[in-house]
Amino acid sequence: MRALKIKVFLLFIAYVVFMSLNMGMYWWNIAAFRERLTIIDEFHDVLSDILETRRYEKNFMFYPEPGSLKEAQVYLDRAEKTANLLQPKIVEIVGNEAYGSLRANIREYRTLLNSLAHGDKTVATATRRKGTWLVEFAQDLLRQKKLRIHTALNRILFLPLAVMALLLALGTIVYIWQARKVLDRLKYVQRAAEGVAKGDYAAVQQISSEDPISLLMRSAFRNMAGELDTRQEQLIEARKLVSIGTLTSGIAHELNNPLNNVSLTADTLLEELDDLPKEEIRELLTDIINETGRASGVVRNLLDFSREEQRSLSRLDIATVISQTLKLVGNQLALNHVGVEVDIPDGLPAIRGDLHYLQQVFINLFLNADQAMKQGGTLRISAREDGGMLRVDVADNGCGMDRETLSRIFDPFFTTKPVGQGTGLGLSIIYGIIKKHGGSIDADSEPGEGATFTVRLPLLAEGEEA
Ligand code: ADP
Repeated sequence: MRALKIKVFLLFIAYVVFMSLNMGMYWWNIAAFRERLTIIDEFHDVLSDILETRRYEKNFMFYPEPGSLKEAQVYLDRAEKTANLLQPKIVEIVGNEAYGSLRANIREYRTLLNSLAHGDKTVATATRRKGTWLVEFAQDLLRQKKLRIHTALNRILFLPLAVMALLLALGTIVYIWQARKVLDRLKYVQRAAEGVAKGDYAAVQQISSEDPISLLMRSAFRNMAGELDTRQEQLIEARKLVSIGTLTSGIAHELNNPLNNVSLTADTLLEELDDLPKEEIRELLTDIINETGRASGVVRNLLDFSREEQRSLSRLDIATVISQTLKLVGNQLALNHVGVEVDIPDGLPAIRGDLHYLQQVFINLFLNADQAMKQGGTLRISAREDGGMLRVDVADNGCGMDRETLSRIFDPFFTTKPVGQGTGLGLSIIYGIIKKHGGSIDADSEPGEGATFTVRLPLLAEGEEA
């Protein structure tokens, strides 16, 4: 965030500096142009003084009055003075040599005017020529200066246009570049949101650009995914308690049997303690120990399942996962007259997974099947390798589902069960757990024809550690 602020600030500073430079340059050009206009005026003064000198020189030729030549001298002096003052500016345009000849010609022109004033008519032609030379020089100076002013004017007009064009081109490039980035980010948001919605958080990491905004978005998505993950885990725990609740009658039954046996055996012992031979007493006591072991086994199983644990992936054998799960739900199924058929061949490759989570997946699937087979039925569980994955089919011959129900079963809170019996979370939680394991789950069913749930889990490559 801080880096982003600094970037925006630097961009703003760069913009201000650029605009200030541009304005400064424009201002400087205008000032230079104004100065050039003043110089033109001064050059004009030189030309008009020379023209005046010539006018008086011509007057003298027609009406030889000494007054005319005096006036001519005055204007020539003025022209010379101004030319002296303008020396650097004249030199800049015509060069040192031409300026030198201007000075020399003025001097010679003055000498010729003097000679005329002293009545020397022979210099008349030479005087005229000198005068003409001076007029042409001044005119040429003025023309060249005007030419330069035009060039400067073009530059002043062109400069803002060029800057505008440059800004436009830069703006277009930045716009296209930024638009691409925005589109990239939007695509990322779409991908990440879709991924998170499906429980696939890998999409959150895949962002192509590493600029501050993209990184900010990724960290926001990562936080969101983390939060969702925690919520999902809490949901799984809550759902676990719901399944334990559903299992209660089965578990009670499972505990009751060994307890009854213990009680009966203890009664027998108490009544016939004095009459029974030592061997038989030993046998009965062993029975009691075995039955107690059975009961504590049930309790341990339940405790194992209900324990809140951090997720940990380990190398798992699907046959063990299924048999451990069946230990928890077996009695419940038996109570509802649901038979169980397991078809898991030996030697299936191992998978990488979390035992508790996968147990929860299968408990939910088995209990759903159990609830769908109200009049009893058969639960068929089979596993095999299929297309590089481990495929587990859980099939029942219960009530089945229509298309509409089938299309919504993985949605959270979707349930067709009465209030108090269904939460609509079981299958959505299963979906999340399987996705996290890098697998998939599908369901196939027809009304009255039972349902089959197919779980696919990635195999652990040979020699690979979990
Ligand atoms: P809940 O069991 O609390 O309703 P689930 O997410 O486990 O929530 O199941 C959602 C719905 O899917 C159930 O209400 C039921 O309509 C349907 N369903 C799930 N499993 C089966 C099945 N084996 N046979 C028929 N319908 C099923």
